[in-house]
Amino acid sequence: MQKAKSFLICIFISAGLFGCRDKKLTEVVEVPLPTAEEKVALSHPDEAKADPGTFQMRELPYEYDALSPSIDPRTMELHYSKHYLTYTNNLNRALSDSLSKHSTIEEILKKLDMSNAALRNNAGGYYNHNLFWESIGPNGGGKPNDTLAKAIDRDFGSFENFKATFADAAEKQFGSGWAWLVVNRSKKLQVTNTPNQDNPLMPQAAVPGTPILALDVWEHAYYLNYQYRRGKYIDAFFDVINWKKVGEKYEEAIAKKY
Ligand code: MN
Repeated sequence: MQKAKSFLICIFISAGLFGCRDKKLTEVVEVPLPTAEEKVALSHPDEAKADPGTFQMRELPYEYDALSPSIDPRTMELHYSKHYLTYTNNLNRALSDSLSKHSTIEEILKKLDMSNAALRNNAGGYYNHNLFWESIGPNGGGKPNDTLAKAIDRDFGSFENFKATFADAAEKQFGSGWAWLVVNRSKKLQVTNTPNQDNPLMPQAAVPGTPILALDVWEHAYYLNYQYRRGKYIDAFFDVINWKKVGEKYEEAIAKKY
């Protein structure tokens, strides 16, 4: 009551002669998280099914709560069963017959007409999330295996430098988007970021290449738990990176002709 009263007085004063400098008015609002007792039962990843179509959701190789506390179960559930499901359905709707018959998602992205917004957003959204689910996993974190570790040292100077470069790209992506570790056409590692659901496979990518690690920095990927603290979410991402999988993707990318 006292707070409400002082708030009203403050508004009144600010509308009058003096500016209101009460710090409370400019504070970011903290939304309390549900307590343990309030937690609702989670669904299972198998229950999420896209409509029949050319592309189907990649199976999530772990439970929604497997990455907790780095990524909370409810965020994982909504991200996989709602956001990713929607990208998959919308991709199938956006595909024309000529694109859907014999094309992989990578082929569709590489020859994308960037003015086709529905396909750009949803083919991107589908591919990007596929890689994101694989980029993370239970018992993740730590450092990459030998081959990838050497390449990271070669191209970034050290693992710590790579980490700082990647975190910076993720932090500085304005608004919604992604941070990437890619193998470029010269088979060197590079870090980049892209807006919305764009990615380094698309024509006109600033840093073109084969992505091997993806970080989703859309607010839907972290807001429930981290709210406006994107930096904390980026730190937590490093604790769940599946370096074994990223290492496999690195070896595939360097073996392949671009
Ligand atoms: Mn997402």
